[in-house]
Parts: sequence; C-alpha cells; structure tokens
Amino acid sequence: MFSDTHFHFHMLEENLQPRVLREMAVRDCFFGLDIGTHCDDLISRQDGIDKAIEKCAGIVSDDGAASDSCIASDDGALSVAGIASDGNLSGEKLKSKIKSFIRFSAGIWPAPEAIRDRKNQIEILEKMIRGAGVAGDESCRSGAGIASDEDSRSGAGAAGDGGGENSTYKKVVAIGECGLDHHWNVSGVDGRAESDFDDAMFLGEREMFEAQLDMAKRMKLPVVVHSRDAFEGTMECIKNAGYDNGIIHCFSYGIDEARAFLDRGWYLAFGGGVTYTKKSKMDAMKELLRFVPEERLLLETDAPYLAPVPFRGNPNNPLLIEHTYRFISEARNINMEELCETVDKNISRLFFKTTLKDIEFDIA
Ligand SMILES: [Zn+2]
Repeated sequence: MFSDTHFHFHMLEENLQPRVLREMAVRDCFFGLDIGTHCDDLISRQDGIDKAIEKCAGIVSDDGAASDSCIASDDGALSVAGIASDGNLSGEKLKSKIKSFIRFSAGIWPAPEAIRDRKNQIEILEKMIRGAGVAGDESCRSGAGIASDEDSRSGAGAAGDGGGENSTYKKVVAIGECGLDHHWNVSGVDGRAESDFDDAMFLGEREMFEAQLDMAKRMKLPVVVHSRDAFEGTMECIKNAGYDNGIIHCFSYGIDEARAFLDRGWYLAFGGGVTYTKKSKMDAMKELLRFVPEERLLLETDAPYLAPVPFRGNPNNPLLIEHTYRFISEARNINMEELCETVDKNISRLFFKTTLKDIEFDIA
C-alpha cells in the first residue's frame, strides 16, 4: 500500500531513514522510487539505502520484536502518523522485502552549473546508469514488491538475470528527474535568480533535457519529468525527442495542460501540494484530480519537500503519503484501498510493462 513514485531518500534525516524503510515494508508498500538529481549521485544514493537497510534489519532483535531504537517514535512524523508495526518482520526477511520494492531513477536536475557542464555530465550519467544496469524484461517478473511473505523471500531478482537480488534491485528503472524549471526564487531550495539565466542558459537547459529524453528512448526507460512554469518548453522538448513515456512529476498545471500530456501518453503524478491548495483554487484542483483518468494517475511525496497537510512545513517522508492518498481518494470519491490499487497497477504497467495479474501469475 501507499506506493511513492518520487522521493529523495538521502535527504531524509539519517536517523529517520531506517525507520521509514521498515515501516514501508510493514505497510506492504508495493513500490518506492528514489530519484536522482545529479549526474553522479546514483552509487552514493544506493549505498545510502543499503546502509539504511542494514541498520534497519540490524536493530530488529532475533525474536522478531522491534527494538526501541527502530520503532519507538519520540520525535515526530512516524508516531504522529500512527503507523502500526509488525514485530514479525525482521532480519533477512525484512532486508529482502525492502529490496523488493525500492527502485532507483537517475537524472540531472536543471541547475545552472549542471547546464553549463551538460555535455560532460550527460556522459557521466550514462556511464553511471550502464554501470548499475538498465532494468529490462527481467524486472517484469521480479517486479516491485508483491506483498506476501512468499514473494518477499523469492524477492526481487528471483526471476532476473541470475545475479541475485542486489543486481535487480540496483538496476535503473527510470531517467530523471530532468526537465525545465523557470521558477525563480533566490530564497528557495534552488537558490536561483532570473539573472542566472540568459539565452544560452535557456537553450542549454532544453538541450540537457532533450539529451536525457534521448537516453531514455535508447534505454527504453520511462522519464521522470520536472516541469515548473515551463509548459510550452516542456512540450517542445518532448516533441523534439519524439518520446512520450513517463511521468510529469508534481503536476502543477491546469486541465488543458493535463489533457495535452495525457493525449501524448504521459502519466501525471500528484504530491502533497494538492492538500494545501488555496481555498479559492480548491474546486479547480479537485476537478483536475477527478479529470485524470484512472489509468494515468500516480502519487508521490517528493520527500523531503512538500509535506501534505497536516504536516505542511515539516520535512516530508514517504510514510506521510497516506495523507495525500486520503485527500485524492476523497476528491475522486473512491476509497483509499481502491486508489492504492489503481496506483500500483499504473506503476506495474509503466515501470515493469506488465500488470499485477501477470506478476502474480508468474510467481504462482
Ligand atoms: Zn524531486
């Protein structure tokens, strides 16, 4: 339950990391995608998650009871979110289960310094991805975590290339996030001003985005697109690249723009921002959330950013996505379980080119 197609795990507080992974496993999370923003961050992100997995498994005692340090939540989000813990999930079983649902994306965010150095950085990115491996057909069956004990033991990689669970878990399943950002805010996380961008920079930004679309096309991978205040430019780039496969992440446009992306085959992902839409725009937001067809809808946190209400302003983490699921299920007038199922089906189709039914069939 509660898949999250976009988070920056290494930016979560270090002591929170193992607890988040453990609780995602306890919730039978189907899929969580760790997103890259720098050409060379893949290995360090993977190492960071490996460490958090070890830590998480290591602090669970042999009899299966979670030790206090793992679960006792005296400091914030976890306890407030009221997450149940499953004392039976421990050790190797826990590690294997986490590796069955965590996946990695790699890409270059359009920061001015990356744009200036784009030729070099695109090369590095491709090398990093080839080094980790590109998820292909073998990832279909090993798939994202299928939530039964049996499955998590056979785990990711069971039907893969014979290289064991690690090799499949670390293969790259998407390119991104990459795209265009024309939102200037010197006091924001990006620290960018309009003066950072001249014509050459604008063109360079597009070139860097198109190079990543091309790479995704060659590797047959979906793209995680960042598009802020740049609808037209984004459209032009994807038309130039002739590749419509992936997610418009943190969708921030209106129904017309949604239709334009949907018509080309894109999935739209919504984050915690939808929960704190201004009152005057709330009706339009809910209309948009109802407008997106069931088979193209995804949910994400963009953690540690954009925590949903009632955690707005705090650091976000993938467990808080439950609040976004609740909000969107209410807007669409369906129950939350139904929404979880819808999102997981979409994830299987987009990332594993298969359906949940196929995965279950293969395992059986
Ligand atoms: Zn992001």
